[in-house]
Amino acid sequence: MTERRKQQHVDSGSGWAEFRPRLIDTREARPRAILASVEPTRLRSNEDGPPWSVDDSLDELARLAVTGDIDVVRRMSQRLPASNPQKPRHGHANSEAENFYMTILAALAHEVGHMRWFQYLNPSQPGTPNYDPNSFCASGIQPGFFTYSWQGPQAQGGITVPSSWLPFGYRDPTNLHLPGDPQTATIDYYIRNNDLRNAAPLLDRLYLNGDPWPSFFSTLSPEEDFVETYKFYVLTHVQDTKIVGAGHLKSLPTTIYGAPTPYNENIPADYFSNNGKPHLHNKTDCVAGII
Ligand SMILES: [Zn+2]
Repeated sequence: MTERRKQQHVDSGSGWAEFRPRLIDTREARPRAILASVEPTRLRSNEDGPPWSVDDSLDELARLAVTGDIDVVRRMSQRLPASNPQKPRHGHANSEAENFYMTILAALAHEVGHMRWFQYLNPSQPGTPNYDPNSFCASGIQPGFFTYSWQGPQAQGGITVPSSWLPFGYRDPTNLHLPGDPQTATIDYYIRNNDLRNAAPLLDRLYLNGDPWPSFFSTLSPEEDFVETYKFYVLTHVQDTKIVGAGHLKSLPTTIYGAPTPYNENIPADYFSNNGKPHLHNKTDCVAGII
């Protein structure tokens, strides 16, 4: 009895509670398949020719499976709005700027820039909306800092005063980029829909030599534009002799993957080139005056 119990346990493989011997199906198993399909384009499918719909393609695969004596146990499909989307990326900065010091400096300069905004633009009552940012760097016929990149709300001259606190990643829905420049909301729309094919050329335009932005972040709101320009000025003008091997930012290659070829941009290199980045120079000149 003891011997028999032991045997049952070992055969069942399911523990002491199972005493009934398990039946094992000895017929040869038919191969089974899961059919998967990816729809890579937004093209409308046809009835009688390519591009076929995902269902048509899976039906055809299923018929193929039948001829191969394969059991189809499941079908699945996924729709990709853009084929092979790749996110934009930065390459390595020039070696003197590709280090921990510059990373810390970039973070600090950005946050100090926010403080400097209130300290300089609204010195008497920081934290209140009682000031006009459009006056920054404007004097006589000299246009203000924000005229190089913003038109503010349509039909109003200049930008509106931002809230005292900006939520992280805040997109300003009120102030608009200059006419002809892609709006961040449009780029966000395509990215939200995973449509980098349409986002890429618009994103690229923000990086062109004729554009005024120091970074994509600066396009989110006028305050971040001020802050990122402040940071850009600090990183591109930091003293070279203070730390051995470390120096100012000269180059930051950026690749925006578009079709058919990627866009290659480099804001710092353009900035230091002959007649490069004229509008960004106007803006950093403004910042240099209050650093
Ligand atoms: Zn910020």
